[in-house]
Amino acid sequence: MKKANGDEIGENMIKFGPAGIPIGLEKGGTKEGILYTAQLGLEAFEVEFVRGVKMKVNDAREVGSVAKEHNTTLSAHCPYWINTAAKTKEKIETSIRNILQTAEVASEMGAWVIVLHPGYYMGRPSQECVKLSISTLKRAKEKMDQHRWNVILGLETTGGVAELGTLEECIEIANSIEGAVPVIDFAHIHGRNGGCLRKKEDFARIFETIERKFIGGNKYVKNFHSHFSELEYSAKGEIRHIPVGKEDEPPFKPLAEIIIENGYSGTIICESPLLEEDAIKMKKIYEKVFKKFQK
Ligand SMILES: [Zn+2]
Repeated sequence: MKKANGDEIGENMIKFGPAGIPIGLEKGGTKEGILYTAQLGLEAFEVEFVRGVKMKVNDAREVGSVAKEHNTTLSAHCPYWINTAAKTKEKIETSIRNILQTAEVASEMGAWVIVLHPGYYMGRPSQECVKLSISTLKRAKEKMDQHRWNVILGLETTGGVAELGTLEECIEIANSIEGAVPVIDFAHIHGRNGGCLRKKEDFARIFETIERKFIGGNKYVKNFHSHFSELEYSAKGEIRHIPVGKEDEPPFKPLAEIIIENGYSGTIICESPLLEEDAIKMKKIYEKVFKKFQK
């Protein structure tokens, strides 16, 4: 089947996978987790270094070969405490160090993107923080290039209103750094904007913004990286991630529809507390929408 512009539309345009080691895995670590995920029919896996990078380079290589063998697309998530717009020099240096640690093991395992939360405003205007974040990330990127660590920096849209990381800010930062992309966390966008994602058009706006404002955005929507789950939130934004299909906050189906109708493709990592179970749930919804679209 072809789209109006001639692009092929395939059923496996979206790769689904868990954020970290599957809940159902009884024994083992990342390697076993990837194998388990692949056996469930999922195609992606995000390795979580959110509480620090403890994996050794040799282990990362082994993880990479398991993923390769099972056709699993790998990404990695940097530590949570990174703040690329920190007020002190010390915290900036720590953030760079943590990004580099993640980049090294991610590169060794063949992950294509390392995801990070840009940081916090701490009472400062957006533009001041964006500038600082860019300068921090440029320094990190320079070091990554020196080491030839072949990974892209992924700026994730953040969930709290006190956090640097609206879609526009992530795009602006990514535009200033060679080899950086915005990573769409749909739950976070929904939560920090008072529940803004309800209908197809709401999800469409995200992709349109990327296509319009992100340099290379037209290409990126064909290979985007994202996180999905539902979210409990307040006026301050994110409270916690909750299972998919619980409250429709946000609903997944309209996202699947907009992806299929527009021929977007990429990866959706499931960050709900049910990880692989909800990744499978989303994959099933997606396939159902796809079949309906084909008719
Ligand atoms: Zn994240």
